[in-house]
Parts: sequence; structure tokens; C-alpha cells
Amino acid sequence: MNIHSDFDAGNIDVVSIAPELIQLSIPKDTNSDFLQWFYFKISDVQINSQLKAVILNAGDSAYPDGWENYRVNVSYDNENWFRVDTSYINGVLAFDVPTDKQELYVAYFEPYSYKQHLALTDSAANSDLCNVELLCNSPEGKPVALLVVGEPTTAKKTVWFTARQHPGESMTEWFIQGLVEDLLDETNEQSTTLLKEHCFYIIPNMNIDGSIAGNLRVNSLGVNYNREWQNPSIEKSPEVYYCLQKMDEVGVDFLMDVHGDEAIPYNFVTSLMGIPSLKVDTMEKEHKFKQHWMQVTKEFQDVHKYENSLPGEANLKVCSKQIGERFGRMAYTLEMPFKDNDGCPDLRKGWNGKRSMEFGKSVLKALSLSSEEGLF
Ligand SMILES: [Zn+2]
Repeated sequence: MNIHSDFDAGNIDVVSIAPELIQLSIPKDTNSDFLQWFYFKISDVQINSQLKAVILNAGDSAYPDGWENYRVNVSYDNENWFRVDTSYINGVLAFDVPTDKQELYVAYFEPYSYKQHLALTDSAANSDLCNVELLCNSPEGKPVALLVVGEPTTAKKTVWFTARQHPGESMTEWFIQGLVEDLLDETNEQSTTLLKEHCFYIIPNMNIDGSIAGNLRVNSLGVNYNREWQNPSIEKSPEVYYCLQKMDEVGVDFLMDVHGDEAIPYNFVTSLMGIPSLKVDTMEKEHKFKQHWMQVTKEFQDVHKYENSLPGEANLKVCSKQIGERFGRMAYTLEMPFKDNDGCPDLRKGWNGKRSMEFGKSVLKALSLSSEEGLF
């Protein structure tokens, strides 16, 4: 039997391999103490054997609550993923390895590869509705794409989506793929109508270096981008620096910064409660936007979520809070689950790439209803 993770986003350390038990540990993110993301391939599995795998240091991860009721993702072809029974006891994550095939992939969540990222930006570039701009280069020299959808004019409202500041949150790029597919579909009436009065600025992957490295939360220098928005640096957080510069240039009428949450098994957004300049008007708009989203999909809800910040205590280093404060418009952090949406669970697949894509399409419907109501 052989285990390796020497590929895009791969991440695992092998402690020992025996015929019936694989012992593993999760390496830390690059230049950081965070650990949680794993992704590896097992080869030469003995067919129909009894095989168990344990991750010995799961209890040292960034979010140990993420392992409660969590189920590991497995794929035979690195494309179609399903969940397997998993237990978490005394800091050790254990799961049965299927042995009906000789090779399989194992991951914390269904991955979204750099190759898929390039395919997404290439296909957007081939649409007449979209211009793909180079936002900047990442610290490791990779091009960071900004998709501008619709003809930018001063009369149009600007709608921003940023995703994958935390690179291990691969569901976020699936979400963007779904959104972009519908937005660039010229037969989609909602998108066509939205694009008459709105221009979309979309960054599918804010942290390409961390994604390729198989990190959960940081870039190659160990920097957590979602704490950089008050004072970003060209050297350490260029994606944030140039994104903020572009936002200052073209404005922000609506922002959604897309994330994944390890522990909470629901989709939810954060509120701007707690930013210093909070207006009653913004709170009313938040409420209405959430109502619209619930109206168009059963995957969104507003009960299970983070607690709001106390007045004046919002962390302005966080993207959505900084943008809400800076531009005085609706600005959300969206969180999707690593586990499942317990509101409509799928025991076999859990929350996954396809559901994230459908959810990304649904946000356009919510935006459409919100725009009709004059919310932004
Ligand atoms: Zn995140």
C-alpha cells in the first residue's frame, strides 16, 4: 500500500502503514500553526480487506468542533466524491477505508483544483459579457484573476464577490463557478436584467498560493487574508491590497465574501451589526435580502449563525466589516458548511461541489429580487 499527497492541494503526513491500519497526521499550513485540510491518494489497496485510517492529530486542528458529526470525503476517480462513516474520539479522527477499488482519494472536502480555476477563468474570458483582468500576482507569482462581468459605466451599481481568502474552503470556488455560469448565460433572463443596471466584479480565488499548497487558512507566507483588510501590504497580502484599491476605484454597492465554516452545519451570512457607522437602513436591507434568498432556495437559512458583534466592536480587519464600514452598503460574509446542511441533509454526499454551485446560482435570484425592490 502507498500513500502520497505530492499534487495540487495535497496535504498529509504518513505516521505508519500496516495491512489493516493507516496512521496519519495533518501537516500545519505553510509558515503557520493552523492545520485542518487533508487530501491524499491511497494506492495498492488490497481488495475486500478490512482497512481503517486514523488521523492522530485531529484534536490539534484549528477547529476541533469541525470533527463532531463530520464525515470524510472519498473518491475513486478524483471527481465523484462521497462520504464515509467517521468517528472522532479523544482527538483522533477515524474512518473505514473502502476496499472495493485499488486506488482512492481522500479529502477534507471535495477539492477545487488549480486546473479547474484556470478552466473557469478561461471560459469566462471567452464570453462576450466578461473581461478577465489581472488583479495582481500572488506572492508566489501566480496571476490572480478579476472577472468583470457587464459593461462598467458610472451609472451602474457595482456588485462584488470575493472567494477563497481561506484556501481550504474549496466549496467557495464551486459556489463562484455556479454563479459565473448563470451570469454568463445569455439565455438567463434574470442575469440579463441584472446586467443592465449592475456590473459584477468577481475574484474566484483570492489565495491561489495557499490553495496549491494545501493550506486551510493562510498564504505561502503564513498570512491570514481575512485579517488584512484594515491595512493590507503589497508584500504580504497583495491580493487584498489590490482588491481594496480596485474597490476604491470603482466603488462597492454590494459585497459577498464567500467562506466555509468547519463547525456549523448550515449556510448563513454575517450581519454588519457592530460596525461603527451602522445605519438602520442597512439593517432593514439585510433583513430583506435574507428573506429573498430564503424565498428562492431551501439551502439558505437565518437561524443557525454566528453571534452578532456588540455595538462598535466589529473587527474591521475582516473583509465584509471593512467594506461595510468603508462604503456604507450591504456587505456579507457567506459561510457554507464543510459537513452538511442539516436543514436538508444528504447522508451520502453531505455538502459538496454540486450543491455549492446550485447555491451560487440561487444568490443571483436573491439579488434579482433585491434589485427589483431597490435594495441596492
Ligand atoms: Zn473562511
